[in-house]
Amino acid sequence: MPAAEDHVDLPRFIAGVEKRNPGQPEFVQAVTEVAEDIFEWIGDKVKYHEAQILRRIAEPDRVISFRVCWQDDKGHIRVQRGWRVQNNNSIGPYKGGIRFHPSVTESVLKFLAFEQTFKNALTGLPMGGGKGGSNFNPKGKSANEIMRFCQSFMTELYRHIGADVDVPAGDIGVGGREIGYMFGQYKRITNNFTGVLTGKGLEWGGSLIRTEATGYGAVYFLQNMLKTKGEDIAGKTAVISGSGNVATHAAEKIVALGGKVLTLSDSDGFVHDPDGIGQDKIDWVKDLKNVRRGRIADYVKEFPGATYHGDGARPWGVPCDLALPCATQNELDGKDAETLLANGCMAVSEGANMPTDLDGVHAFKAAKILYAPGKASNAGGVAVSGLEMSQNSARMSWKEAELQTMLQDIMAGIHERCLEYGRGADGHTDYVKGANIAGFKKVADAMLAYGVV
Ligand code: NDP
Repeated sequence: MPAAEDHVDLPRFIAGVEKRNPGQPEFVQAVTEVAEDIFEWIGDKVKYHEAQILRRIAEPDRVISFRVCWQDDKGHIRVQRGWRVQNNNSIGPYKGGIRFHPSVTESVLKFLAFEQTFKNALTGLPMGGGKGGSNFNPKGKSANEIMRFCQSFMTELYRHIGADVDVPAGDIGVGGREIGYMFGQYKRITNNFTGVLTGKGLEWGGSLIRTEATGYGAVYFLQNMLKTKGEDIAGKTAVISGSGNVATHAAEKIVALGGKVLTLSDSDGFVHDPDGIGQDKIDWVKDLKNVRRGRIADYVKEFPGATYHGDGARPWGVPCDLALPCATQNELDGKDAETLLANGCMAVSEGANMPTDLDGVHAFKAAKILYAPGKASNAGGVAVSGLEMSQNSARMSWKEAELQTMLQDIMAGIHERCLEYGRGADGHTDYVKGANIAGFKKVADAMLAYGVV
């Protein structure tokens, strides 16, 4: 086999990715971050070069794009675009969430499916990488409109997914309600009750702790990192962004472990509560976001000790020991990272996917703080989704305590894999590098076994 990549250096590889994916900055960013570590690691490993493994993982198996028509409450016909990106199924069926948000583009979903491939490999469970979604904006829509949209979306998606093919889950804008509408439509079209989606309700095949798993897992990962320095969460202050599923459950676990949560946010701004956002306040936020569908700005009316910072302000200027970005991609840039570092932040655990831009990643790496990329620290959600798939296949359900132990073990296992490939001669662990290499190696070795496919 010719050593085709032998002469391609990192800048040329990235230039090729840019050329083949015009107008897709998020995808190029995600590939660049991984390639920086992989190129160094595979420098002396000819088999990966010869088989063009990274080049192949950075080319999705397929990208399905489709029209989603639906009727709003006024009878107007609305047209959205839907996608499913099936990135790589070398180690198991495609698996990854569905996102409904106006910022969704093919580039965003391709970056998420690419990242998901490494994340799923890191969990140790047999899951490939995929992601899907639509530029549909659920904000301000009635429950009936959401239902009609979900049904229309699934009317096309159903032909591309299956319990052993591709198993979507929730993500931004897609929670238990939307999964219910989509599963209902899938079942109606196919007459099949199978584990084709995860994040289902407990009465119809869902798993205990799935809702909590991403946020809790990000904090377990943080705990593991702190332990390497003889530290723990008790008594530490935490700045968290977002106020959705991941943010509220990360906050809940920080509080349970004795930490103090200072902030939460949404796309309009953030709240800073110097008294700490305790469990009662987190419950209030969950109700605000999930039931009353309000905005985080409302928090200060209920809790006047807090201040609200609008105009899309982000919370990274609030001094803290720990930072957990749990909202969305590129919400923490190089300047924000420098601010956190200047204020003495000692650890960052990403609940969101790629919340830190490349400048921020480089700043955290250079400062050698404890910094966990989302593909490692937020893998708890997809891990419990993997456990939901197992329970569905076996037609059984595990108890909560068993699942909590499994989640903690999986997060500890991911942490171990990061140490194995990310620990340097000086004892410092580069978790980004560790996660990239460990995830890559598992997928790459499976691809080598399959030959040229
Ligand atoms: P939710 O929809 O429950 O919450 C998203 C939160 O992020 C909301 O507070 C939302 O505010 C905020 N947000 C969304 N877009 C932006 C933006 N452009 N700027 C600032 N804030 C924004 O989603 P999740 O909590 O499920 O997901 C959050 C992140 O975690 C995403 O990156 C997701 O991919 C990742 N993730 C989620 C997993 C899961 O199990 N749910 C698993 C692994 C990763 P607003 O209300 O204003 O939109």
